[in-house]
Amino acid sequence: MSKQKKLISDKIPINKRVMNMNDQNSAERNFDRDLDKQTVMTLGSHCSLQVLKGAKDEDFNTLLVCEEKRFDMYKRFKFIDNIVSIKNFKEIVNKNFQDELIEKFSPILIPHGTLISTLNMDELESIKIPIFGNKWILRWESDRMLKQQLMDESKLPSPTQISSKNAIDGLCIVKLHGAAGGKGYFLVSDKKGFEEQAQKLIKSHVIESEENLFIQKYANGVPVYLQYFYSPITNELELLGIDRRYETDIDAIGRIPSKYQISSNIEPSYTVVGNIPIVLRESLLPEVYSMGERFVEASRRLVPPGMPGPFCIEGVYDKNANFIAFEFSARIVAGTNLYVSGSPYSDLLFDTPMSMGRRISLEIKRAIGSSKIDLITT
Ligand code: AMP
Repeated sequence: MSKQKKLISDKIPINKRVMNMNDQNSAERNFDRDLDKQTVMTLGSHCSLQVLKGAKDEDFNTLLVCEEKRFDMYKRFKFIDNIVSIKNFKEIVNKNFQDELIEKFSPILIPHGTLISTLNMDELESIKIPIFGNKWILRWESDRMLKQQLMDESKLPSPTQISSKNAIDGLCIVKLHGAAGGKGYFLVSDKKGFEEQAQKLIKSHVIESEENLFIQKYANGVPVYLQYFYSPITNELELLGIDRRYETDIDAIGRIPSKYQISSNIEPSYTVVGNIPIVLRESLLPEVYSMGERFVEASRRLVPPGMPGPFCIEGVYDKNANFIAFEFSARIVAGTNLYVSGSPYSDLLFDTPMSMGRRISLEIKRAIGSSKIDLITT
């Protein structure tokens, strides 16, 4: 039996894994849904609460696929109509499981960071459930080389890539592939430091070889994450929010006086534990929009159908207030969780509280209304 097969509870009919939220007493009731309404589905992690709250606000059925260990947490939320709990998110690639979900719910799947970090790109691209946005561009997000190509095509100023450890000269940040929330990143200033850190990761089985690492010049500045939404229906780009990440323990190190920093020999890590809201100087906004528009156009050229839906450009502002982009996410980011009731930027565009999750569902509603669902799903 393959590893994947073992994870999948093929024998359990889906209705045994579904809890109807209207019936608190039974975890084994059949699903219940309004057949006139589209179902919006996502995985229980990352930004799922915001996504499904937004879907409910737009009057859709909501479906959460979560891991068993989180079932009790998610069942607290009344806007989740149905929960399917599975042992492991990897089960989502099982064709029978997908067929069941399609037959019973006919859902649209909203992808987020957990889907990308759980599946490899072949698995993700093979998903039969319609995915909101461009699923092909997620490969460009998770492969560092493709990512850089798309950033260059978008003319986003980015830190110099260092092609080999021999070329390390000055402060660099070393990253793993994929969306791991900054986990495992480290700083180096020379080849020796790189080799030492890489060996630690190899020994702890985080990576197989140095080849799995990606070296970038460290961009000195304050981190800023720009959250956009592009609508292929209206052909408009919206800026819906801005945040910065709260990262342990790089954000903790400044709390220790320098003499103790040096003596304790702490290697800072970049693991994200939360997000903090940011409002930018208004004079910076023209370039913010311009960067987003260049990204949308470049995506259309390199990865058709382009960048429908949410995306994020991530970087730092340097001392001259110039933006240096080190990353993008080609889907909703967890930083949007800050703005479940709207952000200072969404409030300027919408009269109702508009989270990124709700904006996604609004787009689905508009696409259904104008028979343009093909424009927003792949
Ligand atoms: P990422 O996963 O690439 O978004 O990076 C996680 C964190 O690492 C960011 O929030 C930054 O704090 C830091 N970081 C990533 N790349 C760079 C860079 N080139 N220069 C400075 N900091 C970076």
